[in-house]
Amino acid sequence: MIYLDHNATTPPSAGVVQAVLATMTDVWGNASSQHPHGQQAKGALGAARASVARVLGCKPSETIFTSGATEANHLAVLGLHAAARHAGRGRIVFSAVEHAGHLALAQALIAQRLPVDFIGVNADGTLDLDSAARAIGPDVAVVSLMAANNETGVLMPVDDVRALAQAAGARLHVDATQFVGKAPFDFARFGADAVSLSAHKLGGPKGIGALLLRQGIALQPQLHGSQERRRRGGTENLPAVAGFAAALEGLGDVAAKASRIAQLRDALEQGLQRALPHVHVFAAGAPRVAGTSYLRFGALPAEVVLQRLEQLGVCASSGAACSSGGSEPSHVLTAMGVPRDEALAAVRLSLGATTSARDIDYLLAALPPLLAPLLENDAAHAA
Ligand code: PMP
Repeated sequence: MIYLDHNATTPPSAGVVQAVLATMTDVWGNASSQHPHGQQAKGALGAARASVARVLGCKPSETIFTSGATEANHLAVLGLHAAARHAGRGRIVFSAVEHAGHLALAQALIAQRLPVDFIGVNADGTLDLDSAARAIGPDVAVVSLMAANNETGVLMPVDDVRALAQAAGARLHVDATQFVGKAPFDFARFGADAVSLSAHKLGGPKGIGALLLRQGIALQPQLHGSQERRRRGGTENLPAVAGFAAALEGLGDVAAKASRIAQLRDALEQGLQRALPHVHVFAAGAPRVAGTSYLRFGALPAEVVLQRLEQLGVCASSGAACSSGGSEPSHVLTAMGVPRDEALAAVRLSLGATTSARDIDYLLAALPPLLAPLLENDAAHAA
């Protein structure tokens, strides 16, 4: 099996599994309990938090553990918005290409008649800064922008948007779920007020993530309780936190890993384009995070390509959101102005730390012979 779906989730290393298992076995107390089991858990939680904070470049008190990025995103937008409301700021601004779950929150806010605006993107998937400048005005409470897009891999201009948010007096939340682990990250220098991330995108367990919240920024909790300095209630998921810390500690030299993965991604895209006609890479000209390749083979429907990949033992995904049999084109490609039939042909191959040059060589040798006859038919059909 060749796993090219690292943007969906990543395989945990043996060290991560061991950290989770050892914590579940040996440190099963509740960190709020006063007896020795509780104190042991409290100590382990503090140690894991210190480790997470060290790798991410934040203070331990700036980390709020959550059940993942979806919850961190909700906490950031709802919590920062609620805290800013008294100052007469009500508007919330999202980019049009946020993660589907985050855009569902935007839709829920619209249904509650809250003022919500969206920043558009250019044809290459980069953020439209004119649209950002129009959307971010003095009535804005929160701007929520992803650091790297999960479908295209396109890097978003966090510094430019921070300048706009700062000038307007708005808070900036960045969903860095597809960025942390794929590119060097340091919260102290990142410039956002709040940053979401998720352990399972960087080799950690599912169901654990964090919101990093800059010291002194007011946030209204969405889950009440004494944990996480009253910012997120609920007994801490200590085994998962330990696995998250182990995954972050295991990242090592992120820049070196990223350049290796970017080379493999480029070799993959160039190899496919050499071997087959009509291979189009979405957002090819834009700055992209290492490892993400989003392409279409002519207008071959994604499911046809995915079926051939499956035949070869390659795990990948489409850009379409499939729900009960029907498929809708990706909202990201739609926002980029990609026509429906081309968007429904989009296939995402996402490489990661476990991807080898042999995996790419195999794919480049095995996939073109399976797709070439289909592409000829496809071209004939189009003509
Ligand atoms: N944001 C982005 C950009 C993502 O890619 C994902 C995961 N697909 C999420 C948020 C949600 O993360 P989680 O699974 O931790 O809730």
